[in-house]
Amino acid sequence: MANDFRPLSGREFPRFSGIKTFFRLPHVAPEADHQVALVGVPYDGAVSYRPGARFAPSRIREVSSLGRGFHMGRGVDLFERLKVADVGDCPTVPIDQEQTYQRIQDFFSPIVQKGKCFVAVGGDHSITLPLLRVLRQQWGQKLNLIHFDAHLDTYPAAWGCEFHHGAFVRHAVNEGLIEPTRSVQLGIRGPLASGSDLDFVRQHGIQVFTVDDLRQQGLDSFLQNLPVFDQGPTYVSFDIDCLDPAYAPGTGTPVVGGLTTYETQKIFRSLKIGQLVGADVVEVSPPFDSSEITALAAVDSLFEILHLF
Ligand code: MN
Ligand code: MN
Repeated sequence: MANDFRPLSGREFPRFSGIKTFFRLPHVAPEADHQVALVGVPYDGAVSYRPGARFAPSRIREVSSLGRGFHMGRGVDLFERLKVADVGDCPTVPIDQEQTYQRIQDFFSPIVQKGKCFVAVGGDHSITLPLLRVLRQQWGQKLNLIHFDAHLDTYPAAWGCEFHHGAFVRHAVNEGLIEPTRSVQLGIRGPLASGSDLDFVRQHGIQVFTVDDLRQQGLDSFLQNLPVFDQGPTYVSFDIDCLDPAYAPGTGTPVVGGLTTYETQKIFRSLKIGQLVGADVVEVSPPFDSSEITALAAVDSLFEILHLF
């Protein structure tokens, strides 16, 4: 299969040169002949603490110039096997979440209807909910969710607002977008506002894996015991704050005691997913980043996620 969707070669054009796209891939229209669309969603109007995730798509594009295609662990050249393209940014309205949600749905629906998959680059974590709505409608069934995060994102309304960046899982369950008993959360840790924060996941049967669960069991054993997602469509949502702030300082609500980049790489390589239909990487806040550590972690996570397709 000839593949026109190859990154600009670093041996022809140095990696600091050229117009910036994700992984130096071609920038094409959403309806072009690719299989997986990389899409920026620069919206951070739902954060509760530090803003800045609106700047993540452009920064991650820039840092992804260092991304390469051959996965050593898998022995696979990603961009030879899969047609991936940068389809640009989804339109957003920085001061209006309702309009932003509508624009996200309008932008992603045609992509999904054409049978393509996507990886959205946020943006804060509130962007995941409209993406799940689009996929739920297209697939006509509830999705499995693999959710990396320090936070449960099942928290109640704040300041009278329902759709802040820490609530998408609660809405996704209540709207029937995901099947909670086939959903997992990885990297969860405290402190919580109160013990009752855990009620929602317990009540709905979402499987929560804390950092303690991983470290006490040991990485190899933990990976062997991960659930298998072989039934139905699956979505991966990667909140960069699942990583320890040492690995991802540039994020809105950092929590110490988190995962390492090596651990998330190993988890990605161990996941068994029958049908991945979409994914996102969210909550990177470039103004709070140091030496692009967080953006690099996001680029590597995107690379690992693309291998899951
Ligand atoms: Mn989150
Ligand atoms: Mn989080």
